[in-house]
Amino acid sequence: MIIIKTSEKLKQFLKVESTSKRSIGFVPTMGALHAGHISLVTLCKQQNDLTVVSIFINPLQFNEQKDFENYPLKTEEDIVALIHAGTNILYLPSVQDMYPAREASEVVYELGYLDQILEGAHRPGHFQGVARVVDLLLQTVQPQRLYLGTKDFQQIRIIQRLIDLKGFKTSIVPAPLVREESGLAMSSRNERLSIVGRRNAAMIYQQLKWICDKIREQSFSSLKTLARENLERNGFEVEYIELASQSDLRILKDYEKGIPLVLLAAVRIEGVRLIDNIQL
Ligand code: AMP
Repeated sequence: MIIIKTSEKLKQFLKVESTSKRSIGFVPTMGALHAGHISLVTLCKQQNDLTVVSIFINPLQFNEQKDFENYPLKTEEDIVALIHAGTNILYLPSVQDMYPAREASEVVYELGYLDQILEGAHRPGHFQGVARVVDLLLQTVQPQRLYLGTKDFQQIRIIQRLIDLKGFKTSIVPAPLVREESGLAMSSRNERLSIVGRRNAAMIYQQLKWICDKIREQSFSSLKTLARENLERNGFEVEYIELASQSDLRILKDYEKGIPLVLLAAVRIEGVRLIDNIQL
């Protein structure tokens, strides 16, 4: 695995590669890698000649300074895991390299409705920050395929919007959400939970699953109220539990037959914000 730390060097390297018509697959991450991330790398390796992974904790997408400061950093372990997974190139830019003075000027993306709901509504500025970093990364890497986890369901829709807005010739390959044995969605932020908190956090998936099992018989609003109460009784702060259509994330009041749906939630426990979703 080659480690490259500046966009200029990465561009030079990939220019040589692209003349040999080798396909490039790209997996952007913020590090503290777990099996969910590695599943994206494995899929990318199967489908491309060259697998590029980036690790960059993007300050622009954190709407809470404390979350940014506490975000786990485990670069050495990540490097070992990426070598084992067969990564060809690890791009490890600094904040300075990603956002030199010329890039610092405010860029605003027209994300529209997608930025006003769910994560967009609860984390102001978050998706603008995501769009900025992914825009710069795609300009540098110019991959044929971009690997994104459905763990961040809304993020996939946002990045598709960015690709359409900017005309990038990149297709998104969505990858399934990987869970811990308990059902808890794997997340780098799980590391900030106590042992008890991590065990309790399995309840998020259990409650979503429970709603999915009942949703064809009972109203979504009554199920949502019960799930919210159960979670709150167990020390969770619930930001949202919402049902939406998968294709455009239109928020639905109740179950609708015949269209792919997704149930999404964001909760906090022990000061850590966690998200999860189930596709129906
Ligand atoms: P992050 O490092 O959190 O920015 O995530 C980098 C990529 O890994 C994103 O496309 C995430 O959706 C994906 N990812 C994170 N957690 C999981 C998971 N549990 N299962 C599948 N993909 C994931």
